[in-house]
Amino acid sequence: PRVRFAPSPTGFLHIGGARTALFNWLYARRYGGAFILRIEDTDQKRSTEASLQAILDALNWLKIDWDEGPQKGGPYGPYFQTQRLERYAEVAEQLIAEGKAFRCYCTPEELEPLRKQAEKEKRAFKYPGTCRELKAPPPGKTRSVVRFKLQSTEGTIRFKDRVLGEIAKPMSDMDDWVMLRGDGIPLYSYGCVLDDHDMAITLVARGQEHVNSTFPQLLLYQALGWEPPEFAHLPLILAPNGEKLSKRKHADADVMNHKHAGILPEALLNYVVRLGWSHGNDEVIPVEKMIEWFDFDAVGATSGKWDHEKLLWLNQQYLMSMPVETITDRWLPYLEEKSPGAPARPRAQIEGVVRLLRPRSRTLVEMAETARYFFSDGVTIDEKAFAKVLTPEARPLLSAAREQLAQATWSTQALDAVVKQVAESAGVGMGKVAQPIRVAVTGGTTSPGIGETLELIGRDESLRRIDAALAKMPA
Ligand code: GLU
Repeated sequence: PRVRFAPSPTGFLHIGGARTALFNWLYARRYGGAFILRIEDTDQKRSTEASLQAILDALNWLKIDWDEGPQKGGPYGPYFQTQRLERYAEVAEQLIAEGKAFRCYCTPEELEPLRKQAEKEKRAFKYPGTCRELKAPPPGKTRSVVRFKLQSTEGTIRFKDRVLGEIAKPMSDMDDWVMLRGDGIPLYSYGCVLDDHDMAITLVARGQEHVNSTFPQLLLYQALGWEPPEFAHLPLILAPNGEKLSKRKHADADVMNHKHAGILPEALLNYVVRLGWSHGNDEVIPVEKMIEWFDFDAVGATSGKWDHEKLLWLNQQYLMSMPVETITDRWLPYLEEKSPGAPARPRAQIEGVVRLLRPRSRTLVEMAETARYFFSDGVTIDEKAFAKVLTPEARPLLSAAREQLAQATWSTQALDAVVKQVAESAGVGMGKVAQPIRVAVTGGTTSPGIGETLELIGRDESLRRIDAALAKMPA
């Protein structure tokens, strides 16, 4: 198989686009085919270099690699539509010569009233056929577009969609649609068909918003005597409130926002693959399994709703299951942001913190926020925690613990033993000793086990923090 993802570089990579890319990519990888990235940059006002880069960055982050396309080249290039204009012109000429297309000289102003009328009557606008049979430009008119020349309005046009099943439309709904603008820029359906054919695409998987365009596209395949590819139209992704997940309203629609929020690309892929595709009741599906199992027949026709909590849950699964070294590498930029300079600390300390905090974090950002006290010079103690825990009664316990901690080997086990021993000799529960230490060294009342926390904060820093707390505690 040869499949493609054909984004228009007019904004960031939308989560729906990422899913389209992912499904195509999985299909190509599963069946040993090729995944082609084609850039549909025909909207010259809205297409930007920055958007293109943003899309490539997002695909790279997700590790969705393409076999042909920008930066890669390939035997079917160029892979930018604006570099293929000659081909669009050539085929248009051929179709005109064969009587399957025609030049239309109608101006937008001339057609506008008809469009308005159709809108009023709540029906689709249809080109009235004014220029269909012209042999030469009407006097005084030079600007033209090329329109497809419908050969018949009888019968039905149908195709079998890999996701939606059989879909049909009466030919009477079709019209002489515009293929090519006067400046040589193709309209979507025209450029798309030529490229899909010329790039030997065997299956077109794209969003359901393109189902309707498939009909004129099929007519063009017919007119050119070309075999159409298979089609798979993917359901929409909806926002939690049932609206379309839109770029403007929902931050989650932007793939790269998830990177900034500390989501792992593996988790995002896993989340996205389940929006529309399933494999039994499996929730955690690593990419190797997706490749082994994915096919369009298991893609559902109904829209999936975005569920942020579920994404966080999955991210937690991946934080726990991936090697500590990998999570640490991924984490360093987030750590740097919250605790500048911290990534320069000994690797063993940083990995130790990752080991402690990953069961308690849903994102890399959360983990970096919680980790602050491991790397700071001193801590600011939360007022409530101070009032509740660093009381006059706690003072002798913290003081005794401080004495003994200073003598102890700085290892989790030895430090836990100190806490236990201080508690036993004072005849109190371990919490009565551990909690004041915790508040003193972390600034708050929650942290991992006290021994491991102390070990990773380090001896000198821990003792300094305890001393600082003791100095402020009421006697
Ligand atoms: N450029 C179109 C889009 O971004 C591609 C549609 C298609 O895959 O045919 O929606």
